[in-house]
Amino acid sequence: EDQLNTLFATFDSEEVTFFADLILPIPVPRLFTYRVPRGMADLVKIGARVIVPFGKNNSRVMTAIVARLHNSPPTAYQARYISEVLDEYPLVTGYQLELFRWMAEYYMCCVGEVMNVALPSGLKISSQSKVQYNPDFDYPELLTEFEEVLLTELKKHPALSYEELGRLAGEGSNVPALIKSLVGKKAVIVFEEVREKYIPKMIRKVRLHTNYEEREQLLVLLNRLEKLPKQQEVVMRYLRHVPVQMNPSLNQKGLDKTILNQDDEISQSSLTTLVKNGVFETFEIIQPRFSDTLSPQVEIKLTDYQRSASENIMKQFEQQNIVLLHGITGSGKTEVYIDLIQQALASGTQVLYLLPEIALTAQIVVRLQRVFGDKMGIYHSKFSDNERVEVWKGVVSGQYQFVVGVRSSVFLPFDNLGLIIVDEEHETSYKQHDPAPRYHARDVAMMLAHWQQAKVLLGSATPSLETYYQAKLGRYGLVELFQRFGDATLPNILLVNTQQEKRQKLMKHEFSSVLYTALEMNMERKEQSILFQNRRGYSPYMQCEDCDWTAECNNCAVSLTYHQRDAELRCHYCGHKDPVPRTCPACGSTKVRTIGFGTEKLEDQLQIFFPGSRVLRMDLDTTRAKNAYQQIIQEFESGQVDILVGTQMITKGLDFDNVSLVGIFDADRLIHFPDFRATERAFQMLTQVSGRAGRRAGRQGTVLIQTANPQQPILQKIITNDYKGLFEEEIQERQDFNYPPFSRLIKLTVRHTDKITSSKAAQRLADELTDALGSSRVLGPEEPLVERIRNQFLFDILVKIERDKVNVKAVKSYIQERINDILTDKGLRQVSIIADVDCL
Ligand code: ADP
Ligand code: ZN
Ligand code: ZN
Repeated sequence: EDQLNTLFATFDSEEVTFFADLILPIPVPRLFTYRVPRGMADLVKIGARVIVPFGKNNSRVMTAIVARLHNSPPTAYQARYISEVLDEYPLVTGYQLELFRWMAEYYMCCVGEVMNVALPSGLKISSQSKVQYNPDFDYPELLTEFEEVLLTELKKHPALSYEELGRLAGEGSNVPALIKSLVGKKAVIVFEEVREKYIPKMIRKVRLHTNYEEREQLLVLLNRLEKLPKQQEVVMRYLRHVPVQMNPSLNQKGLDKTILNQDDEISQSSLTTLVKNGVFETFEIIQPRFSDTLSPQVEIKLTDYQRSASENIMKQFEQQNIVLLHGITGSGKTEVYIDLIQQALASGTQVLYLLPEIALTAQIVVRLQRVFGDKMGIYHSKFSDNERVEVWKGVVSGQYQFVVGVRSSVFLPFDNLGLIIVDEEHETSYKQHDPAPRYHARDVAMMLAHWQQAKVLLGSATPSLETYYQAKLGRYGLVELFQRFGDATLPNILLVNTQQEKRQKLMKHEFSSVLYTALEMNMERKEQSILFQNRRGYSPYMQCEDCDWTAECNNCAVSLTYHQRDAELRCHYCGHKDPVPRTCPACGSTKVRTIGFGTEKLEDQLQIFFPGSRVLRMDLDTTRAKNAYQQIIQEFESGQVDILVGTQMITKGLDFDNVSLVGIFDADRLIHFPDFRATERAFQMLTQVSGRAGRRAGRQGTVLIQTANPQQPILQKIITNDYKGLFEEEIQERQDFNYPPFSRLIKLTVRHTDKITSSKAAQRLADELTDALGSSRVLGPEEPLVERIRNQFLFDILVKIERDKVNVKAVKSYIQERINDILTDKGLRQVSIIADVDCL
């Protein structure tokens, strides 16, 4: 009987079918159950990636993550088999799965959307639909004339993507409909081609053959090339970049081939000859993230103020999980962070240091690398996918115990965090707008820390009201650092009355005489200046003087911005471009003029005022390329540039020695922006940009703010660096009107190409929510400032939920139900609704 039982047991266990609930990277609010093939039973683990078929006829291939294993088959559908297991060990930790679930619930989105954003695409194999001529096709009489022509073309190609087919079919053709028709007639086959994405980016380099590393041999070579001047020049060019005579080991790293080939074909063919003759050798390496010249390790010596701040933070961490470091610009917060990071690493835990996108430049990276060397991982959105995969794997393998990164680094597979630093915690760029999950990295970091029992340090010179409020209540610790490093003092901030200057005819275009003179003097002293105008392009409006026609976007309810460099009008919302009209399209008048000014125009005016000066511009238009920020910053740092003009990009975390003047244009527009956070934002932005001046002891910096109304109270607070005054006033207003931090906000945006449909859906949603939550908690529907974007009419509804009195979870799921009702209502087809939790 025993034997029989054993026999049955094995028999049973073989018969047990395993099922896996998977997260698929798609916006569907549920998990998907798949069957685990027998041979894979031991391989499929929670947190590992698997490949599965998906869609009708298994036409798609997807990478999924195993979230749950069980043995109850799904009731609603026949489960398909997992086709492949990608990971021997879980790629996603238990903490991350928990994070995915929490984010989906908190930010009202699908767990698949979270996964999709969390994983670098190099870790997701994707597939692409392709179209191929069906060799068995034999009903040409069914084809339309156009299809016949297209098919003849298609026969010449092995397989085409939808995009390529679209190009073949010509502009304006409806590719999906075309394919549907052709598939119906069995003229073509559609299939999925798997694209493996993780391909390292190689760069081609060149180095001297090792024979010539020795001084003697090198001299012989140069002598030999005497009669071949072009080849000699190439070798000399190499030696200028790589001084082999002084340090032979430099040769091993070689030189980027493009540097030797610079802009002349002669050197290219000479180089080819030199390679052929064995003087040079070429090789390839994986593109490094930052310059691989490791800076010498240095020890940071904290000032007394910094030391006591650091000690105070550690002490408060004994009682508190979250501490705010409120330190003025230039106080050396980074040094305090470094001290704390070292302590956390020494105790064997992982550390995450979050920075806003733009602040994460070579400047900070070099400072940190000097201390942490290559133990530090860097996670940046300008990095290639493959570089991000490397960091991901480095965290798993333990190579990186410490990562400095942007918002999305909260998704890295940490499992032993001891400390998370959120630098410039007030920065709005920590909030993701699109796509879902619309998360706030600071708040997600706090959840991560909570699960892993890590501490969180928030740092800022201008904390968000939300954070400071928590600190005042004692829910967060608070440490202040109000001394600039090394006897430097805060800059002297002066207001310049542009109204008055206009009356007295002192303005030179956009420049007040005060700013103009200050710039002139600064240049004479060989000191650098920064000019801030939070608007890119040449001018934001183009208008006809005779009939008041203004250039507007076809797709959005906004004016087009004139970009002089590219001679076009551009929509900053959808990217639409129009040529610049010579005459008014409405009345034919030639008096078409530009109104207002952006960074391009300031750059132009500076060139006219100060011929020979060197001006750089930093805005979205000049920083699209991967290393553009860094290049601009390095060039400015090198001191050969006199003036840096830029948008808010220049306000963040930059640290230049020689900047003694900051000029601010159009402060009034920031202050009067129609939003309940405008005052807070203006204070933050103007204080931060001011903080770029006078960061070194010796000379106090100057900040000039141009305003039409110097009496505005907020300007007085900026001048005196009165953060606390600002806080007291603003917090009172927030309380009176029940805005954050006294409530949570959820913004619901309803969109449709038809305004009436959009409005109808929005009104219904607002009515239903008002019925359930009361009219004091629901505002709108209201048309937003820009009420049409990409031909979609928008309506906003704002839901305010008190912090403590209401069950937020229940409210969210109620809202979600109402949304789902509308989305499935046949009368409201194609309406889309976006929920933005804790919107900014
Ligand atoms: P914050 O982030 O508070 O604006 P930073 O950390 O950028 O200030 O420091 C301002 C400048 O002062 C930096 O150039 C930094 O290198 C320098 N600095 C600050 N503290 C020290 C220190 N203890 N030793 C050497 N340099 C320091
Ligand atoms: Zn006109
Ligand atoms: Zn547009």
